[in-house]
Amino acid sequence: MAIEQQIIDKAMSEGRSLLTEIESKELLKQAGISVIDTNLAASREEAISISRHFGFPVVLKIASPDIVHKSDSGGVKLGLKTSKQVGKAYDDISGAISQKYPQAVIQGVSVQKMARPGVEVIIGMSKDAQFGPVLMFGLGGILVEILKDVSFRIVPLTRRDAREMIREIKGFPLLEGYRGQEPVDVSNLEELLVKVSDFVEQNPEVKELDLNPIFAYSNGAVAVDARVVLETTS
Ligand code: ADP
Ligand code: MG
Repeated sequence: MAIEQQIIDKAMSEGRSLLTEIESKELLKQAGISVIDTNLAASREEAISISRHFGFPVVLKIASPDIVHKSDSGGVKLGLKTSKQVGKAYDDISGAISQKYPQAVIQGVSVQKMARPGVEVIIGMSKDAQFGPVLMFGLGGILVEILKDVSFRIVPLTRRDAREMIREIKGFPLLEGYRGQEPVDVSNLEELLVKVSDFVEQNPEVKELDLNPIFAYSNGAVAVDARVVLETTS
């Protein structure tokens, strides 16, 4: 069976509609969408050995099917430079989460490399009662959260739709290079939007999708966080 289907079936058989960050990234990676390599560590020692394998600096995040917003509760530690820092971060995350969510099922932590800084963008998908799946594009951080500077297109997206929706947002000049920042590879983002649209078309069991954030660079882009919600079947 294809890995994609295995991931979806496993979650469904456990009665879960929220995929973990690791499952979500695996699913998207199979679809050719660029995500940062991320492994699960079920213990402190494993977190350290995976970090050494990836190379420092790394990021640790809580891995739990019950926690949607990982950083809200001390569940994300960025820029860890040594094994010692990784060990401490593992303990701190475990402590913070068990205090805040005593009922949550904890798989361990996810470990990934710290991505180099880029322009943060987001791609989301939700299903509209009338139009079906709709993709959203925006710039990450406050531009989306406060200014709601986003654009939408109905799936399936053509390359032209992708091109337009990126240029429609008010913050577009930020992608063209701003105050000495490198211009972003916009055609790569167009390609990414079309890939996400294809993925959504081919996986009707996916109800919601969030790539937030994606770090966009002058050469390519990589999603550092991913969240997939499945349709619930009764
Ligand atoms: P949340 O579940 O809270 O959305 P994220 O995985 O998005 O958690 O992490 C929170 C923030 O940490 C991100 O918005 C991003 O700015 C930063 N971040 C996450 N992963 C990485 C990474 N691999 N490299 C660099 N920064 C990261
Ligand atoms: Mg996120």
